[in-house]
Amino acid sequence: MAYTEAERLKRHERYIRNREKIKSQSREYYLKNIEKYREKHNEYYQRNVEAMRVNHMSWARSNRKRMRKISKKYYLKNPEKCHARRALASAVKRGAVVRPKTCSRCGRIGKIQGHHHRGYSFPLDVLWVCVPCHVLLDGRANFLAAESALHPR
Ligand SMILES: [Zn+2]
Repeated sequence: MAYTEAERLKRHERYIRNREKIKSQSREYYLKNIEKYREKHNEYYQRNVEAMRVNHMSWARSNRKRMRKISKKYYLKNPEKCHARRALASAVKRGAVVRPKTCSRCGRIGKIQGHHHRGYSFPLDVLWVCVPCHVLLDGRANFLAAESALHPR
């Protein structure tokens, strides 16, 4: 729009030269404002969760073969995990295990997942935690970044 091709190239070169610095600065900015980003994300999620679910369902329905292939691949890669999740889901359904409404780690309300803290050979022995705490406990996220997101200041 406003930039000429030469200006655009110049800006791009500057970006390439300082890529690492720019990346680390924006990472820093992101971590400093993570609550704001999280709020925005939550807002977006709340507004679109139903539409996303419907989209996914219709995609899954019209791609049954691919879905079957995807879940089979996942199952073959993670048989213990799948058995544990299935056992837990059926125990919750039967009422043998009660899924609490809040995270046992931080008290947040929301989607609560069972964290298999003793491993998948104990399918019903779970810690009920929110998604961010689950990510943290699984070591899926950079520990400090997640910790600062959960306990800002
Ligand atoms: Zn939590």
